[in-house]
This record gives sequence, structure tokens and C-alpha cells, in this order.
Amino acid sequence: MNNTFVVVGGDAAGMSAASKAKRENPEMDVVVFEKGEWVSYAACGMPYYVKGEVEALEDLVTIPPEQFRQERDIDLRTGHEVVDLNPNTETVTVEGPDGQFDQPYDSLLLGMGATAIEPPFDGIDLDGVFTIHDMDEADAIEEYVSEQAPETAAIVGGGYVGIEMAEALDARGVDVSLYEMLPNVLQPFGTEVADVVEEHLGERGVDLHLDTAVSGFAGDGRVEHVEFEGSSAPAEIAVVGVGVTPNVALAEAAGIELGPTGAIATDEFGRTNHDNVYAAGDCAEANHVVTGEPEHVPLALTANRAGRAIGQTVTGAPTPVGDTAGTAIVKAFDLGAARTGIVDEERASEAGFDPISVTISAGSRAHYYPGGEELTVTLLADRDTRRVLGGSVVGREGAKRIDTVAMALHGEMTVTELQNADLAYAPPFSPVWDPVLTAAKVLGGKLA
Ligand SMILES: Cc1cc2nc3c(=O)[nH]c(=O)nc-3n(C[C@H](O)[C@H](O)[C@H](O)COP(=O)(O)OP(=O)(O)OC[C@H]3O[C@@H](n4cnc5c(N)ncnc54)[C@H](O)[C@@H]3O)c2cc1C
Repeated sequence: MNNTFVVVGGDAAGMSAASKAKRENPEMDVVVFEKGEWVSYAACGMPYYVKGEVEALEDLVTIPPEQFRQERDIDLRTGHEVVDLNPNTETVTVEGPDGQFDQPYDSLLLGMGATAIEPPFDGIDLDGVFTIHDMDEADAIEEYVSEQAPETAAIVGGGYVGIEMAEALDARGVDVSLYEMLPNVLQPFGTEVADVVEEHLGERGVDLHLDTAVSGFAGDGRVEHVEFEGSSAPAEIAVVGVGVTPNVALAEAAGIELGPTGAIATDEFGRTNHDNVYAAGDCAEANHVVTGEPEHVPLALTANRAGRAIGQTVTGAPTPVGDTAGTAIVKAFDLGAARTGIVDEERASEAGFDPISVTISAGSRAHYYPGGEELTVTLLADRDTRRVLGGSVVGREGAKRIDTVAMALHGEMTVTELQNADLAYAPPFSPVWDPVLTAAKVLGGKLA
């Protein structure tokens, strides 16, 4: 049995793996190298720290470093960067406060995460231009807003991070403009969701520029304007949220194979092409539950779950990391928007399906019960097999119903099976026919 488990990266994937391995086998030496000072932090909560809903950055830490060290007996070393992997000698080279050294391993997990993409914009280095991917960046944005009191903001990118940051800065009293080069925001959520979200962003005062490519920023040392399509607008702070790229340089240099998405290729146990080297989280691929193809899904549960499974596998109990459906949900001011699986027909056709879809609107509660809101549900299925392929939900209440659709994907359910699912009902929570069931009924009718 392996006895030294080395982990690179001390967040969702890495600390889940380290904790699980130690719990399963207390005799195992578990060493975690984290190049920064923060570990086990909820990056997902950072927009709400900037917004002011989360009081202290420290509140986003799930388990403090000392607890890992003292209570869980994990050799956690912050301020230590792994700079080289040597699969042939089964060692990693580490740079720490006391210099460089080699650390041997029996099993190794690569949990290096991803990096926010910084396009080659003019003026990207001006003060007041930020990306938001780690805790220090969140801290810097909060500090800038507090100290400089910007009146105008440019958000570049209409993905979920851009939309969360639009809400955060709006709540801090900043006039927000959002620039998206595609025709819609929230592209992975589909146009049915985007249409509703875009209308709502407008209602909430966000100046939305779709089909608009930003080229850079201008200002005297500090950002004053955002430039786009030959035009410019005031922006005293800018947040660039145009996606992430997996941190794979270390792995690639060591001959670890990357997959078609550019993230580290892994098998069902999270194993790379090198014996005893695993990868999980934002730096790795995961298997898509509908297409069976590798996908790069940089989301928190994917990282936590794969890390936990690998932590168990390295103790001698092989545990699959599980498939991903790309299930995601985002708060956009007063709306919830959610998606899972395949949400558009073009993508379904590319994956070899014969897609058919419906979009319905239904109340989130019984029609007579106060406080209900309209939900828009889209459901997609394969015409031949009737298998549910994916869907989306958007509305002011109840978007988390997407989980029902996600379960249908994991269970490879047909539209009829979903339609016949026994879901909970009482007037304050749902109509008798939950909106997801109504969508399945309508889609079933269309298929018939
Ligand atoms: C603003 C924001 C909001 C988000 N909101 C959501 C959400 O609502 N829902 C959701 O599911 N996901 C969300 N995410 C994504 C989620 O945070 C990530 O999917 C998750 O953190 C991935 O975990 P990870 O362990 O793979 O990588 P990370 O959390 O990136 O951790 C990797 C760690 O590895 C360290 N590291 C890298 N290279 C080395 C090295 N060579 N040596 C030592 N250490 C190294 C890094 O410093 C880092 O701490 C959000 C992300 C951001 C930025």
C-alpha cells in the first residue's frame, strides 16, 4: 500500500483529497504544497465579499490551515510552490521559504486549479483593472472600491463571474456597464435563459453592450475609460471575467497528457497517463454524463468530488470520480439562472443526437398562493431514444429545480420517466405539477 500522498494545490480538489486520504488511512503521510497563503477557501463567495454581504474574507475559509495541521494531521505547507514534477523518480521539486528541495511521493494529486484569462488588452496593467480568481484579487477589488469610491465600472465578459460582479459593484453604488462580445450573456446557459437575464439586467440599471468586443482601457496610471469598437465610456474600475485556462504547464513539462480541451486527461479514477499521478478540479478534464466525452468543467463540486474520490483511491479503495453534467446556477440580481447537460440543439446535433426541445413558463408556487414567481423551463431530449439531454431554468424563485433535470441525466432517464417522477407538492412550494414535470409533459406530447 502507498504511504506518502503528495498533493499540489490546497483548495477544493487538493484539500478534499488530503482530508479523505487521512481519514481513510491515518497512517498515511499526507503532504500538501500550496503556493499561496490561503487554503480551503470558497472562491465562489468572493463576489459576495465585494458586495458587502460577507463581512470578512476569512469567512470564506472552510477549514483554517491550523485545523488541517493539528486536528487532521496533514502536513500542509503554504508558501510552497511545486516547480517541477519528476514522474520517473516519483518526486516533485518544491520551492519554499527555505529554498528548493525534492519531495518523494508514492501517489501524487495535481490540483493546481485554473488561472483567469487576461486578454492582451491595451491598458490591462492600469490601476483599477482586475480579474477575480483568487482571494488576494477579491481583497484588492474590495479595497479599491472602498478607497477610490469609483462611480463607473466596466465588466468585461457576461459569464457568471461577470454577472455576479455586476451585481456586487451595483450594490456598492457603482454605475455598471457590462460588455460581452457574443450576442448573449451566459452563453453556456442557452438563449432562453439569456433573454430573461438580459431583460432583468436592463431593469436593474446595468448598461448592457452585447456583440461588443472591448479592446482595452485608458487612463493616467489608473483606469478612466474602457475602449470598445472605436468608442469609449467612463470606467473608474474594470473587472475582466472572460473565462479561465487550466494550470497545466507543470504537468505538460513532465510528459503528462492533456486531453482535447487542453486540461489534463484523466480516466474514471482521475488517473493521468502516469502511474500514481492523479489530477482533479479546474486543471483536469471530467467525463460528460450525456456525451461520454471529456469536458473541462471548472466548477466547485466537480473539484471537491473528484478530490474526495482520489483521496479514497490512493488508500487502496479505487473510487470513480463520477461524471459531470456541467450543472450550474447563478444569481443575477433578483433572478436565479441554472443549466445542466446539453442546452442547445446545435450542440446536441454535434454530439450525435437528434434533438427536440420545449420551453415553458409556469408558476413557482400554486397559482392562488401568494409570492409565486414565473419560471421559464427549457428541456431538451433525443427524438429517437427519448432520453433527456439537458435543460435550463430561470426565474426569481426556484431555479434550483435544475437539480431534478440533472438527476434525470445521471439516471439516463427518458422524457416519460421524468414526467412520471413523484416530486413533492404543497401550495407554498410548487404547483401540483412541478414546472420541470410540466416541461417534461409538454415535451412528451411533442415527441408523440
Ligand atoms: C469568482 C468566482 C466565483 C465562483 N463561483 C462558483 C460557483 O458559484 N459555483 C461553482 O461551482 N464554482 C464556482 N467557482 C469555481 C470554483 O471556485 C472552482 O471550480 C474551484 O475552486 C476549483 O477548485 P480547484 O481545487 O480545482 O482549484 P483552485 O480553487 O484554483 O485551487 C488550486 C490551488 O492550487 C494552488 N497552486 C497552483 N499551482 C501550484 C503549484 N505549482 N504549487 C503549489 N500550489 C499551486 C493555487 O494557489 C490554488 O490555491 C467560482 C470561481 C470564481 C473565481
